[in-house]
Amino acid sequence: QEQTPYKMLNREFVKSLLMPRKKFDHKGTYGHGLLISGSYGKMGAAILASRACLRSGIGLLTSHIPRLGYEIMQTAVPEAMVSIDRSDIIFTEFPDLSQFKAVAIGPGIDKKQNSYCAMINLLKEIKTPMVIDADGINILGEHPELKADLPLGSVFTPHPKEFERLVGKSDDSFTRNNMQRKFAREYGVTLVLKGAYTAIACPEGSVYFNPTGNPGMATAGSGDVLTGIILSLLSQGYSSKVATIIGVYLHGLAGDLASEKVGYEALTASDIIDFLPKAWLKLK
Ligand code: AMP
Ligand code: MG
Repeated sequence: QEQTPYKMLNREFVKSLLMPRKKFDHKGTYGHGLLISGSYGKMGAAILASRACLRSGIGLLTSHIPRLGYEIMQTAVPEAMVSIDRSDIIFTEFPDLSQFKAVAIGPGIDKKQNSYCAMINLLKEIKTPMVIDADGINILGEHPELKADLPLGSVFTPHPKEFERLVGKSDDSFTRNNMQRKFAREYGVTLVLKGAYTAIACPEGSVYFNPTGNPGMATAGSGDVLTGIILSLLSQGYSSKVATIIGVYLHGLAGDLASEKVGYEALTASDIIDFLPKAWLKLK
């Protein structure tokens, strides 16, 4: 029988990947993650990603945000610890990385010159797995030489436009899929292409398609929620591939459960977070 690299995710398979929690576990067991997100006018992305992260099992979360977001974050997400950038409005530095099990960067950051410089330094220093989303992806798209410094276990979560900036243009979905697989192999990363039937390309060549999710999730902030979920799973010690598979499936499942209650039109990214508890329970 011929082996195909393509697989469709399903509930039983995703369930089988989950690590059980044990009686004497404590928050140290579930890891400390760092989320770099937010900028002037886009603190909502930081809030959504932080909340989704904390709803997905992480032990401790530090949210690194520009100074203007301090009170917003402390008020909206009391569970998160906050690390404040020297800049009032954008990402220009990051805390000591040695304490973190995983890092995510991108939701609501900007791609101004200073953020690009901070990204160079981050990639030089980082040794843990890392999720790269949104303008984090766009910075790498504009400065491809930075890809040489990607840490082992990086996960990219572009939507189609960001994918094009990172990987290049393609005329049809067949070519695009081949480009996705090639990129994942070449850089040793997990490359997600978001949308209906999100495709997850893994470094060893396999591709997983996700059946959960719906058009109600085509709404502002939806992707920020996914970034928070994957950071949470990486921090808990799941491998990049497994964290991405569980995260993508769970995110879509939460969106499906939310849509049963509020429909497609009214669905917001916050609704996806609100239905994460139910989605987790469905995986048990
Ligand atoms: P972003 O564009 O970064 O906010 O990400 C959008 C998120 O919503 C991704 O996780 C997509 O997979 C999901 N999404 C958007 N549209 C659909 C759709 N038609 N079906 C399933 N998921 C979708
Ligand atoms: Mg996005």
